[in-house]
Amino acid sequence: MSRVVFRNTYLLDGLHSGQRNTTVVVDGDRIIEVKQGSVGTGLNDTVVDLQGKTMMPGMVSGHFHAAYSMGGENKVAMNAPAMQQGLWALANTQKALRAGYTSVVGAGTFHDIDGRLAEALDAGVVVGPRLIPSSRALSPKVASDESGEGTPWVKCWGADEFRAAAINEIERGARVIKLFAAQGHAMRSCREMTFDELKAATDAAHERGARTRAHVCGRDQVLKCIRAGVDIIDHADWMDDECIDAMLENGSFVLPSMYSPFLSAGDPTLDGAGFYDKKDFEYMQREVPIANARGVKFVPGDDYGFFDMLPHGAYSGEMACYVEQVGISALDVIKWATAHGGEMTGIPDLGTIAPGKLADMLIVDGDPSADINILSKPERLLAVIKGGALVSGVMPGVL
Ligand SMILES: [Zn+2]
Repeated sequence: MSRVVFRNTYLLDGLHSGQRNTTVVVDGDRIIEVKQGSVGTGLNDTVVDLQGKTMMPGMVSGHFHAAYSMGGENKVAMNAPAMQQGLWALANTQKALRAGYTSVVGAGTFHDIDGRLAEALDAGVVVGPRLIPSSRALSPKVASDESGEGTPWVKCWGADEFRAAAINEIERGARVIKLFAAQGHAMRSCREMTFDELKAATDAAHERGARTRAHVCGRDQVLKCIRAGVDIIDHADWMDDECIDAMLENGSFVLPSMYSPFLSAGDPTLDGAGFYDKKDFEYMQREVPIANARGVKFVPGDDYGFFDMLPHGAYSGEMACYVEQVGISALDVIKWATAHGGEMTGIPDLGTIAPGKLADMLIVDGDPSADINILSKPERLLAVIKGGALVSGVMPGVL
């Protein structure tokens, strides 16, 4: 296969500030060379002169409900037929791809949609991002619960049921097991999972090469999840210094998902407004920059598709929220979505632009590290490349 030589790029490699006049060489699905200035080219090479346009890694949405289509245009109900939800889920992943997200990590699915969709994507049957499939949400049963029939959640009581449910979900195709570990962050009336329940599900996942993620708020419950070995901490409202210590020690990936609380706090007429407490958002406005400065591996991602205010496709507004409302630098937020996100997928060699890495990359008109809102403008996202192949947009400057 011939090489593609990208000349004169403004390179945001996912880790460092922008480097002008950089050449990036792609061979097949891999980046093979990154060099200041130019490189020699052969007759068989395709040469692309980017004329100073930005090249950055494909982004990762780390909290992605492909099967959520209950908000936005053409919505379908949570209990719609599985076939219909599956088609909508495919469309949602394709919206993410067009928005520059070359990978998404499932955060809870309906039926077995994530697993089947990941198989179709991996096989090339359909085009979309890399999808790390989630389980259905395993949720702690309480005495008043009905059988759980007809709901999309899997209700479990005690360590044995959580272990069995996690194994069942993995056998049905999940690579990430979603746990509802505590209430808060739009989740009401959830019994707190016990340490034994968390550990049973997590051990069962780890023994099978899968991971767990927990919807969790509150200092003590966040610590409990991390100590039980949960890999991915969703939301973490009211985390404190001790939680940060534990996150750093455990290498946790943390998804504060502050975009939906921000939107609803800013406009009480929105449909999500009753679900979030403004005090939680204000607390995290103070705490997330502290944790970021200490090196916690934050990754963007939110409940797109659950609310009208948060339809699939509106992902990049979240990046701007972290810059403008939380005070994180644009370069760091880009790092969250690329280097951190790539590591979070568990796929080796993803998330940065360096020799040996997979060639998932974006060509952008303008510098998102100077103005993060550029990523929210479809006309500025010129090309999306996944595994070395152009999957959205037009390759600019082919010589
Ligand atoms: Zn979610």
